[in-house]
Amino acid sequence: MLDIVVIGAGLSGLTAASILRQAGARVQVLEADSQIGGRIRALRDPGNRRTLGDLGPTWVWPKYQPIAARWLATLGLATFEQFNQGDAVIAGYGPAPFRQPLPGQDGMVRIAGGPSALIDALSNRIGAASIRTSTPVVGLSEDGAGRVAVRLGSGEVITARQVIVSVPLRVAGMTLNLPWAPQPLIDAMRATPTWMSSHAKAVAVYERPFWRDAGLSGRIASRIGPLVEAHDNTGVDGAPGAIFGFVGWSPDRRRRDPGGLEQAIRDQLAQSFGEAAAQPIQLVIQDWATHARIATDLDLSQPADHPDIGPPVLRQAHLDGRVRFAVSEASEISPGLIEGALAIGEQAALGIVRQAV
Ligand SMILES: Cc1cc2nc3c(=O)[nH]c(=O)nc-3n(C[C@H](O)[C@H](O)[C@H](O)COP(=O)(O)OP(=O)(O)OC[C@H]3O[C@@H](n4cnc5c(N)ncnc54)[C@H](O)[C@@H]3O)c2cc1C
Repeated sequence: MLDIVVIGAGLSGLTAASILRQAGARVQVLEADSQIGGRIRALRDPGNRRTLGDLGPTWVWPKYQPIAARWLATLGLATFEQFNQGDAVIAGYGPAPFRQPLPGQDGMVRIAGGPSALIDALSNRIGAASIRTSTPVVGLSEDGAGRVAVRLGSGEVITARQVIVSVPLRVAGMTLNLPWAPQPLIDAMRATPTWMSSHAKAVAVYERPFWRDAGLSGRIASRIGPLVEAHDNTGVDGAPGAIFGFVGWSPDRRRRDPGGLEQAIRDQLAQSFGEAAAQPIQLVIQDWATHARIATDLDLSQPADHPDIGPPVLRQAHLDGRVRFAVSEASEISPGLIEGALAIGEQAALGIVRQAV
């Protein structure tokens, strides 16, 4: 039986692992963090585990993303329209904030339960016993017997016939010991920014989406901030209500003044949607820049560009065909996006399956 280690339990790694499991392989997923999902993370109701808001991605575009459309159908996940009825609040484009409808993006939809529903469905397919969390990998080498030695932070070594590295390329290039890796591969990994890794997202949860009563869409477009862009993040059931926003403050400013940021977000929400908005049931700020397994110093010091399609060396099999990289930014299709993660996860898994037959 094929035995395969997948490093990283984000969407790419879990997609690859679920395909390999279905193909009959023995798969072990190793995740450094205490939870799975990588950049996909939900704010959950502690009582019933229902998703209250998205701390990572929110949207997919299945009309234009055939791989996402196919996986949503396969996993039985429904989508619904991003709520965008009524006026947006626009600030910093005139002497005072004003209201105006802002068109949404064509084909942009949300997944019922949020993108974390993808993570839950894939991990159910893989089985909890095959996923180890809080298990950082520190290096990969040949074991001298035709297998790959996967070294863990604990000192333990696991050997596998095939390894898929589903870790952000820069993180892998800067933190994993890969003595066999050719310099062009290391250079390409380090040159690839990790999409959205320097960003922070705020989610505010309310009993209900009361802004809708006032003809507001929940959308904010602001040059003043701290939220430069915000959207209604209420779930498909219509309650509780939620707003999410992208924080415009730099990673350094966020780190220096977390209390000031929270207060400024409350003030901005109140100014946009009325006083009630200053007192959400919960206000959570997820700062991806502080997540060392997602964002590197390079990601924080350079402009947060959307990744281009990287060179083919990122998609080739290495170490005599035994090591592949599968993380969204390595994909030739929609790098950086959910679509890219699904595409490269599939590609890496099918590469192994084809090699085996
Ligand atoms: C705020 C935000 C908003 C976004 N919005 C959208 C959106 O609306 N639509 C969209 O399509 N995309 C969006 N994205 C991008 C989307 O989230 C990513 O494309 C996708 O989640 C990437 O999945 P991945 O598995 O390739 O990588 P990741 O999710 O980064 O997974 C990598 C995993 O590797 C683990 N890891 C790292 N180092 C090690 C190690 N040494 N050992 C073991 N494990 C390790 C990490 O902990 C992580 O779990 C957004 C991202 C963010 C952060």
